[in-house]
Amino acid sequence: MTPRTAIVIGAGFGGLALAIRLQSEGIATTLLEARDKPGGRAYVWQDQGHVFDAGPTVITDPEALRELWALSGQDMARDVTLMPVSPFYRLLWPDGKKFDYVNDADALEREIMAFSPSDLEGYRRFHDYAEEVYQEGYLKLGTVPFLKLGQMMRAAPALVRLEAYRSVHSIVARFIKDPHLRQAFSFHTLLVGGNPFSTSSIYALIHALERRGGVWFAKGGTNALVSGMVALFERLGGTLHLDTRVARIETEGARATGVTLSDGRKMQADMVASNGDVMHNYRDLLGHTGRGRMKAALLGKQRWSMSLFVLHFGLSKMPEGLAHHTILFGPRYRELVTEIFGGPKLPEDFSLYLHSPCVTDPGLAPPGMSTHYVLAPVPHLGRADIDWAAEGPRLADRIFQSLEERLIPDLRKNLTVQRIFSPTDFATELGAHHGSAFSIEPILRQSAWFRPHNRDRSIRNFYIVGAGTHPGAGIPGVVGSAKATAGVMIADARA
Ligand SMILES: Cc1cc2nc3c(=O)[nH]c(=O)nc-3n(C[C@H](O)[C@H](O)[C@H](O)COP(=O)(O)OP(=O)(O)OC[C@H]3O[C@@H](n4cnc5c(N)ncnc54)[C@H](O)[C@@H]3O)c2cc1C
Repeated sequence: MTPRTAIVIGAGFGGLALAIRLQSEGIATTLLEARDKPGGRAYVWQDQGHVFDAGPTVITDPEALRELWALSGQDMARDVTLMPVSPFYRLLWPDGKKFDYVNDADALEREIMAFSPSDLEGYRRFHDYAEEVYQEGYLKLGTVPFLKLGQMMRAAPALVRLEAYRSVHSIVARFIKDPHLRQAFSFHTLLVGGNPFSTSSIYALIHALERRGGVWFAKGGTNALVSGMVALFERLGGTLHLDTRVARIETEGARATGVTLSDGRKMQADMVASNGDVMHNYRDLLGHTGRGRMKAALLGKQRWSMSLFVLHFGLSKMPEGLAHHTILFGPRYRELVTEIFGGPKLPEDFSLYLHSPCVTDPGLAPPGMSTHYVLAPVPHLGRADIDWAAEGPRLADRIFQSLEERLIPDLRKNLTVQRIFSPTDFATELGAHHGSAFSIEPILRQSAWFRPHNRDRSIRNFYIVGAGTHPGAGIPGVVGSAKATAGVMIADARA
């Protein structure tokens, strides 16, 4: 009999996109989310009129999102308004240098010229390289489920030709000499949990992705995009249950039969997919099976990407001259990321990403006020077992001090609200292994076929979607993973 029902565990971007795809195909899909709101890392909360998006803020590849509506002949504009962001990022260094990373080719080249005229030609060659890896790595392979080694072998010649075994930074350094510009064109891997000095050069595709599709922000915040996806899913006839935690995936032999919830209720389905953390899937939800225990042991040996210290705050005014996205590089680059990815303690210095959404959408704060978050990449809990309850407020103070010195002089005087989200919260709130913000680290030997597969190889009707499977973290990544996983599930349903 053709399977016509599916359970998707977790309503992050990956789970939502998968549920929409299955439901669009007529597979009756139930989405089960442990928390009181959907979105996962893209959770949201309100405080004194400030709207705080918890996670993703840089929306790239809007076409991949529009496709979810187009599947059922609908228009994303019905549910979501995307607003362009310019500059994409403002980059600031401690020596006072500033680089506006813009999409206009001429303006971008003028910025490069102002830093290092001799690097202009090299930048153009880097851009060509990024275009090529975008075609090969994103368009051709980004949504292909790597279930068989043969698929990896077929991709190998292109990967070798593009020198995918090299790091993003080493490729950038080949084309560009200026140390600031090398940072400007290599830091992007950090946005998907990768160390620029060890993440495969394939990730240079992010540059092409941004230049082609732009950087966007959803009106009302990223949470509005999540709500739009939920509205679409429910219009299609899908069912979302919030406050519904799955405690166990039930199996019979090599098949999943459904789930047991933490309150003891049972639900059955023909197919089960999980958007939860991959370690949680195998260690906790399938820990009663040999397959679950074996896979969890393997995952325990993998390299997990770094965590983040996120500090949300509201101000009673809107600071002048801010960009929507600002990167404040610290005094060190390679040494700092080496310490962040290697542990074993919190580095003394930091690089920061400041999100100031009211620059694009003032509606996210009460009139005249502003909403922000600032984050610093930090080691995950498996590398640096930091007591974040004690360390968090100290780091928050150091970060506020730095922002006051470099960008917002009267920050603490105008503070209305603040809230910390630390690696411990990633572990407890999201079940993230080691409190990792981005799941398994995106290095070559943990990518494509080497990443946990979109369909489990033993439990043949259990599937994975989200940052822990191919292709990886970031909204385009997990929405791409949903396309790959849905493709396998729909083919299995028809078989
Ligand atoms: C602070 C931050 C900033 C970021 N910025 C960007 C950005 O600007 N642009 C970008 O593209 N990406 C960004 N990312 C990365 C991006 O947000 C993530 O890679 C992506 O959202 C992860 O989606 P996911 O599908 O893997 O699911 P997740 O967001 O991890 O959601 C998984 C869901 O599953 C639920 N769940 C888990 N276990 C169970 C269970 N047993 N029962 C029921 N439910 C369960 C969880 O509660 C959660 O809601 C950022 C990430 C962070 C943390």
